[in-house]
Amino acid sequence: MAVLWNKHRFSGGVLVLDTTNTLVLRGHADRSFDRFEDRAEISRFAEAARTFRPAELGGRAPVFENSEAAAGRVIALREAADRLFRQAVLSGQLDTALLPAVLRAAASCLDGASEMVGGAERPYGDPATPLRFETALGVSALSLLSGNEWRKIRICPNCNWLFVDRSRNASRLWCDMAVCGNRHKARRHYERSKATEVSHG
Ligand SMILES: [Zn+2]
Repeated sequence: MAVLWNKHRFSGGVLVLDTTNTLVLRGHADRSFDRFEDRAEISRFAEAARTFRPAELGGRAPVFENSEAAAGRVIALREAADRLFRQAVLSGQLDTALLPAVLRAAASCLDGASEMVGGAERPYGDPATPLRFETALGVSALSLLSGNEWRKIRICPNCNWLFVDRSRNASRLWCDMAVCGNRHKARRHYERSKATEVSHG
């Protein structure tokens, strides 16, 4: 069944983390699954990124030219970035041993195209022209590394997604309050009512 690429699935705050989050429930061996297992979903994800990542992409429309080689480059960067940034959250530091895989994967995503990024008015070049998804993903990964923003990455305690916490007092707990926060509340409520039942015999 086709994935509904909605706002919730772009909870990462930056394109590279939205991408790492396409592998759902990481660490839950029995429940984890890959939304990019059907490679056609990468193109659909790229298309949805225009709607849900407008600021980062400067309004440009990312396009993914589906091929097994291109999908392999995207997956390689997704996995390497997840390892690096997840470890950074857990330790508060960047592990240089995890960097080469990210840099190599980002380099191969950037290879073969030229885009002028970082312009004052146009962070990603001309919004009227399409943008290679691989380029967007490579730039997103390198941007997250280059500043201090990686320090704001958190791991959602409900679904294990990575997200950037830009809240003023750095207190955001859930990737998406409306989804993971509510599920947690509902579960706590259920557990409390079960506990009451037991204590009442
Ligand atoms: Zn979550």
